[in-house]
Amino acid sequence: MPRPIPIPDDLSRPFWDGCNERRLLVQYCTYCDRKQFPPEPDCRECGWHFHLTWIQTTGRGVIIGSSVTYDSRIVAWHDQQPYLNAVISLEEDPVIHFHSNLPGVPVHDVPVGAAVIVDFIEVTPGQLIPEWKLA
Ligand SMILES: [Zn+2]
Repeated sequence: MPRPIPIPDDLSRPFWDGCNERRLLVQYCTYCDRKQFPPEPDCRECGWHFHLTWIQTTGRGVIIGSSVTYDSRIVAWHDQQPYLNAVISLEEDPVIHFHSNLPGVPVHDVPVGAAVIVDFIEVTPGQLIPEWKLA
């Protein structure tokens, strides 16, 4: 399935650089001892930016739900329909979610509750993005 090519900016560049090193990174506030994703300029808890850094996750998660798209607004994806949109909850912080098409998983047979692990796929030369697969 064709994937959007990320355009890293100052805020998201550490995440995309991590992907290129096959590492799944999330922001971490050293003051609040909490993680957050997607990246934001400030910590959602304390509101400060000076304590934000990036940490590597285990890259493990659990499928907590899914939906199926039959009529995408993205014309380039019409030949891939129906396609799966699974929600992945991150192992070390279940409030952090990622989305996945779970390549190879039948769209109407998603094993909710199953363990998944991140993998990385190249969407353009020099840029990897995260994708998830059953563990
Ligand atoms: Zn904080």
